[in-house]
Amino acid sequence: MAQETRDKHEHLVRVDSSSEKESLLKVDNLQKYYPIKGGFFRRKIGDVKAVDNISLDLKRGETFGLVGESGCGKSTAGRTITRLFKPTAGKIFFEGKDITNLRGSELRNLRQDIQMVFQDPYASLNPKMMVGSIVTEPIINFKGGSEKKYKDEVIALLERVGLPEDAYYKYPHEFSGGQRQRIGIARALALKPKLIVADEPVSALDVSVQSQVLNLLKELQQEFNLTLLFIAHDLSVVKHMSDRIGVMYLGNLVEVAGAEEIYQDPKHPYTQALISAIPMPDPRNKSKRIILSGDVPSPQNPPVGCPFHPRCHKAMPECSEKKPQLKEVNPGHRVSCLLYE
Ligand code: SF4
Repeated sequence: MAQETRDKHEHLVRVDSSSEKESLLKVDNLQKYYPIKGGFFRRKIGDVKAVDNISLDLKRGETFGLVGESGCGKSTAGRTITRLFKPTAGKIFFEGKDITNLRGSELRNLRQDIQMVFQDPYASLNPKMMVGSIVTEPIINFKGGSEKKYKDEVIALLERVGLPEDAYYKYPHEFSGGQRQRIGIARALALKPKLIVADEPVSALDVSVQSQVLNLLKELQQEFNLTLLFIAHDLSVVKHMSDRIGVMYLGNLVEVAGAEEIYQDPKHPYTQALISAIPMPDPRNKSKRIILSGDVPSPQNPPVGCPFHPRCHKAMPECSEKKPQLKEVNPGHRVSCLLYE
């Protein structure tokens, strides 16, 4: 990158290394339920428990990977944490402030600090707007002024995410999927947020460009001292990105540990099954694949006891009666399984 461009975007860089260990986001017993209505009077007859009970603590500057099969509630959790969805119960704290019930201008102001990168970059970009306008729009919304005022800043940002300078004057359809995701990342960065929730940011992309976008996110995370909540269904994708990993099953967190530890020593039978399914680059490594039987049960009617018991290869009689709680088994390693209680 040219020195001039570096200088232009230097002011975008957020450096706050002294506070890397402090908590940025804390989530306590978060629930997000959707009511099911039925009968003649459309009365509530039940709930879809998309997020049943999640507690998390994201440290400033870390990347936390949230993984699980589709339908496990991870995307709903991401959107509820960012307050795009209203929580049903539980608490969310951002920089120590309770943001669970923020509304109006306070909620709007929160958008400066918490941004999202979505799975489908094309659907999240207005096809009728030029890229320069797309990336400048959130800045104008918060700070006022004209596009011209922020043009140099936005061009520097576009270059930083790997787009050419003339991208400013082009439309989203003129770019490839990977480039569109770079536009989405530039838009998310425009307000210099503290937290980015990236919801399956590479799963719609060709395998060949996935690693480029992942590397870019990793670089930006360090350069901007971002805290990143990285949501994915693929454990092998989050491994290279994350400092810590949380595994979700049927709206619940079932295991949380450091990225290395969870791969080397997975405790929960579900995590063990997910890790056993990752192809090993070394053919001499013949660890046995654990096949998960059946599908994820409906969150409308989750199993009694441990939500994983109908599919668990280590299930015991008490697993269909008692619901395990997330408990620490090693420092920083929490598991929700009766085998460890
Ligand atoms: Fe399996 Fe029982 Fe542990 Fe649930 S509590 S994961 S069913 S062993």
